[in-house]
Amino acid sequence: MDQAELELFRDTVVRFLREEVAPHYEDWERAGRIPPEFYLKMGENGLLCVDQPEDYGGIGAPFAYSMVVLEEVSRAGYMALASNLTVHSDIVAPYILHLGSEEQKQHYLPRMASGECIGAIGMTEPGAGSDLANIRSRAEADGQGGWVVNGGKTFITNGQNAGVVCAAIKTDPSRGSKGVSLLLLDTDQEGFERGRNLEKIGQHAADTSELFFKNLRVPAGKVLGREGGGFGHMMDELPRERLALALTAVAHARGAVERTLVYVQERQAFGQNIGQFQNTRFTLARAQSEVECHWAFIEKGIAKYERAELTPVEAAMIKYTTTELENRICDQCLQLFGGYGYMAEYPISRDFVDARIQRIYGGTSEIMLEIVARSLLGR
Ligand SMILES: Cc1cc2nc3c(=O)[nH]c(=O)nc-3n(C[C@H](O)[C@H](O)[C@H](O)COP(=O)(O)OP(=O)(O)OC[C@H]3O[C@@H](n4cnc5c(N)ncnc54)[C@H](O)[C@@H]3O)c2cc1C
Repeated sequence: MDQAELELFRDTVVRFLREEVAPHYEDWERAGRIPPEFYLKMGENGLLCVDQPEDYGGIGAPFAYSMVVLEEVSRAGYMALASNLTVHSDIVAPYILHLGSEEQKQHYLPRMASGECIGAIGMTEPGAGSDLANIRSRAEADGQGGWVVNGGKTFITNGQNAGVVCAAIKTDPSRGSKGVSLLLLDTDQEGFERGRNLEKIGQHAADTSELFFKNLRVPAGKVLGREGGGFGHMMDELPRERLALALTAVAHARGAVERTLVYVQERQAFGQNIGQFQNTRFTLARAQSEVECHWAFIEKGIAKYERAELTPVEAAMIKYTTTELENRICDQCLQLFGGYGYMAEYPISRDFVDARIQRIYGGTSEIMLEIVARSLLGR
């Protein structure tokens, strides 16, 4: 990979964020949603699904390019956008690319790269979050190769904007987790209903929704991967999802440190910049050292993912350590802003609340520790 070209691509991303996101982000946060037209703009600029092959509408770039998009979005503090993009470009599109039939790839991927069709991943249900085997949504065969789906999902990122939901559904409830399949649900079908855009404490612009399936008819050819293979497929795809979330965590922490560095060199107390107090200096020095250290872990993860060697245990370690770090650093940086850090108009307050969910979605920190512990100690 040509590093100079990657840096040119980074410049394009940064410019795009400055021109197309910065002027609107506050409005999107207030509206609780990023308008669908914005994704068309991202598509036009070649910033969606960038590592998809050109045959499917991407630019066929290496995986690192997709990570640069997430890195710069997170570093700038646009974490709602980072979540939406992670799901769209780095979860749903790779699911379809890796598991889809040729027809599915041709049908969805070019429209995902252009931003016409936004992707969502539907695993969580009210009674099944960490314990995914407990999902209740079910599909019954319609006798013509298709399915009739009933049930619902909750907490679904991109839920309001999505054109397709890759949903985990029980197609054979008698077989427990072996009876789960992934179905591609088109959101314009009768029987597919969007619930509320849920109100959250942070990442307001990331639309997060309930979804309901009421006798939703799904035609033949919409099972993604193997029928009954849904659980295995999810396990196979999780390392990329967790690596992407980890990368957003470290990039976001780096951005929080950068925003704090500016503030502490301006704010005066006791006749000097607060950046001159040893506590401030050491807090920021420690944070920056930890960011660099964790970034090395991310780079190792990216290299291993590119060689198809990133294991679920390593991905769990990376997600756990980096999202905990992100939360710690955003908290410490907010402290350096004093009372202003608690004011919504200061971006550091957004950094603080936006970071919090990263320890929960994509698998909670406790579930990450379970995965690591099992690899050390067995069940
Ligand atoms: C903003 C947001 C966006 C989301 N986006 C999506 C999305 O796009 N698609 C999707 O499918 N889901 C999404 N989720 C759901 C998210 O992945 C789940 O919330 C998460 O996996 C936790 O599940 P839960 O909320 O049911 O918590 P629970 O599973 O009920 O967990 C509650 C607590 O118990 C702990 N716990 C559970 N099991 C164990 C165990 N075995 N050992 C130790 N502790 C345990 C957990 O760590 C947690 O602290 C999103 C959630 C939010 C809030």
